[in-house]
Amino acid sequence: PDDQPPPDPSKKTLVILGTGWGAVSLLKKLDTENYNVVVVSPRNYFLFTPLLPSCTVGTIEHRSIMEPIRNFLRHKKASVKFYEAEANKIDYEKKIVYISDDSDIKGDVSSTEVPFDMLVVGVGAENATFGIPGVREHGLFLKEVGDAQRIRNRIMDCCETSTFKDQDPDEIKRLLHMVVVGGGPTGVEFAGELQDFFNSDLKKWIPDITDSFKVTLVEALPNVLPMFSKQLIDYTEKTFKEETITIRTKTMVKRVTEKFIEAESVGPDGKKVLEKIPYGLLVWATGNALRPVVKDLINQLPAQADSRRGLAVNEYLVVKGTENVWAVGDCAVANYAPTAQVAAQEGAWLARMFNQMAKTSEIQEKLGELSIAQEKAPGKEARDKVFDEIKDLQKSLRRVKQISPFEYTHNGSLAYIGSDKAVADIPWFVGNFATGGTLTYFFWRSAYVSMCFSTRNRILVCVDWVKSKVFGRDVSRV
Ligand code: FAD
Ligand code: NAD
Repeated sequence: PDDQPPPDPSKKTLVILGTGWGAVSLLKKLDTENYNVVVVSPRNYFLFTPLLPSCTVGTIEHRSIMEPIRNFLRHKKASVKFYEAEANKIDYEKKIVYISDDSDIKGDVSSTEVPFDMLVVGVGAENATFGIPGVREHGLFLKEVGDAQRIRNRIMDCCETSTFKDQDPDEIKRLLHMVVVGGGPTGVEFAGELQDFFNSDLKKWIPDITDSFKVTLVEALPNVLPMFSKQLIDYTEKTFKEETITIRTKTMVKRVTEKFIEAESVGPDGKKVLEKIPYGLLVWATGNALRPVVKDLINQLPAQADSRRGLAVNEYLVVKGTENVWAVGDCAVANYAPTAQVAAQEGAWLARMFNQMAKTSEIQEKLGELSIAQEKAPGKEARDKVFDEIKDLQKSLRRVKQISPFEYTHNGSLAYIGSDKAVADIPWFVGNFATGGTLTYFFWRSAYVSMCFSTRNRILVCVDWVKSKVFGRDVSRV
């Protein structure tokens, strides 16, 4: 039994995969009356990822940056079907998506097919491990809410275990060594948040750990934050030094075991050195990799033979080698960085295009009706009247059909680096405005609060900031 009306056979079925930045910004602007819209995602909420690093230490509670997709969809003009499921395979030839319910509770049916006329792939990306042994078994990622919760628990577990009676001093050091691999913005923001947590709360609440708690950031390249301007890289490295976060650049992790990582760096004599670094917590933030469903679609399309980093799309975000499949966000390769900013702009552009496409078909249908009416019109006067109507419609058809290709507008890069400081690279007239410090931090805060999904999220985030400032972050392990 279904409490929603059956799909309208006169409309095309538009299937959207994902409830992340790309898919949700498409849904926000899409006129759902024009299509039978179906959304498939294993996550029944939208997640505001820029504030996820703050959830790992309890500066912000995770539910404050989540927005239930059901709540958002119920406000759309026409009903939208939502299936909490994972798309396992897209059969391009048959125009079918195979989906399965991977949640704990399963009904009699837990896998099925969803046919589509048009498909938008917005499934994001997986965590890259580059096949390095031990990463999946022993490291923690930072992409989803569950990851942030696991990190938060592990930090506390390490702290409490290190204070266990009769613990050996070396073991205490190991347990309190927090290692972050990957000096991109995810790794840097997490390291900053963690050091803040230690400075403002942990060392007051568990003074025993003060001498041994240490955060190390490991990066294979010569510097962290490669996408930021040189002066901000220097500023970040200087701030980390003041905060006593150790940065190990030109250090490539090769292997991970339960208690140490093995990293290769170049010694003072220019020779490669392999070193064992013991750790209690390991957070792995080395960027993105393809999801299996995307890899499989790439393999079905000869035009995607050279695609390595994602689905190659043209300037209209159409997946190359297809006519009715579009891709947005981290799973698409359109020569832009895999950021929320890009995904959101792509989704919004696609919504406008789909709305225009629907208008075009509507006008074309009306034109067909009018030309029949013109033939049947009794007398010249009536025919002329219909002819005028046709001319007006043709004019609006030309206007509506003019869809300019997607163009990304970069509004700047922002990152939190800890101790109430942030860095920002903002396009400024002809050049770039690079700024770092406490003022930038207030700008970072206000920018991210204003970008939150809903007023509810905005209020919750602000309340969390006040709460953690006044009462300290909650260190309970759940
Ligand atoms: P996502 O937002 O990841 O969404 C993918 C969706 O697809 C999810 O709903 C997922 O559940 C769903 N899905 C997954 N597999 C399937 C499947 N098989 N079938 C159906 N659905 C599926 N970018 C910025 O611009 N600024 C920032 O400050 C910033 N901070 C970040 C902080 C962190 C910690 C992280 C991890 C990323 C950050 N990013 C930031 C990057 C940004 O989050 C991504 O670029 C953005 O989420 C990409 O949007 P997307 O829609 O492609 O993917
Ligand atoms: P990233 O790809 O930006 O950085 C990963 C880093 O890991 C690289 O610098 C790489 O050299 C390093 N690395 C890879 N393998 C390694 C190894 N074996 N040992 C040591 N270092 C290794 O990844 P990210 O930080 O997760 O970001 C992913 C995307 O999300 C990026 O596009 C980023 O811009 C975006 N993002 C943006 C923000 C922001 O704007 N504040 C925050 C988080 C993420």
